[in-house]
Amino acid sequence: MFNLNQQIAIVTGGAKGIGKGIAKVLKNAGATVIIADIDEKQGELTAQELGCAFKYVDVTSQAACQGLIDEVVQTFGRLDILCSNTGVFPQASLSEMTEQDWDFVHHINLKGTFFMVQAALKAMRPHEYGRIIITSSITGPITGYPNWSHYGASKAGQLGFMRSAALECANQGITINAVMPGNILTEGLAAQGEEYLGQMTRSIPTKKLGKPEDIGYAVCFLASKEASFITGQTIVVDGGQILPESPEA
Ligand code: NAD
Repeated sequence: MFNLNQQIAIVTGGAKGIGKGIAKVLKNAGATVIIADIDEKQGELTAQELGCAFKYVDVTSQAACQGLIDEVVQTFGRLDILCSNTGVFPQASLSEMTEQDWDFVHHINLKGTFFMVQAALKAMRPHEYGRIIITSSITGPITGYPNWSHYGASKAGQLGFMRSAALECANQGITINAVMPGNILTEGLAAQGEEYLGQMTRSIPTKKLGKPEDIGYAVCFLASKEASFITGQTIVVDGGQILPESPEA
């Protein structure tokens, strides 16, 4: 494992699911981890379980994102790692999707990423060091899935944002990358229903859904000092789901 001793890390959406998996792996690698989530009850429980700190945040509020970063810097002295992981994925067919459905997904997934990354950069720039890792998805940037056009657009948008943002701080010791999970068994994924889970499990070459920690390990690498020459990139963690099968297979 990479050594994250003395590193201060925030994981948004860390109360459960992939964020919890990321928090666990970073904590085990030695980082001081602050779980930031809108779900106060679950966030406190998870923080207690993992030995992390918890801070309430609603990433749809720019002021709240800035307030979170300010509080962390005030309490812990600085910020080294931001894992911008919060995301929602309710399904809606394009024929029935409302403007509210669209805005709900984009506000949290895309605008929330912008708010968190912008605020984190303000704290990282004076130290000329930082690691930012955004949780995108294979859905949108690479694959599609019916009823997730708003979600897919937000996840592809995160990558466009990430690449330009990475260039803006490449000469300041700050890297910005993304992980692209395939199907990872979390409460959010389980909410898609048994039929979806079965269909996905069958379509993954490894024939099993991923675990939240599987994403945590990829994030831990990108969060390490050793990953200093990698920026504006993505790592797919999907059990081989996006690989095209040869006709003979
Ligand atoms: P999840 O629903 O299990 O957990 C999401 C967390 O985000 C929850 O703790 C929730 O309280 C928090 N949250 C929601 N709205 C918030 C807000 N406004 N402010 C702060 N916190 C908020 O989801 P998950 O499956 O763990 O997904 C996490 C990320 O991974 C998302 O960005 C998702 O798009 C991405 N992803 C997940 C999968 C998967 O298979 N689970 C696949 C690809 C990408």
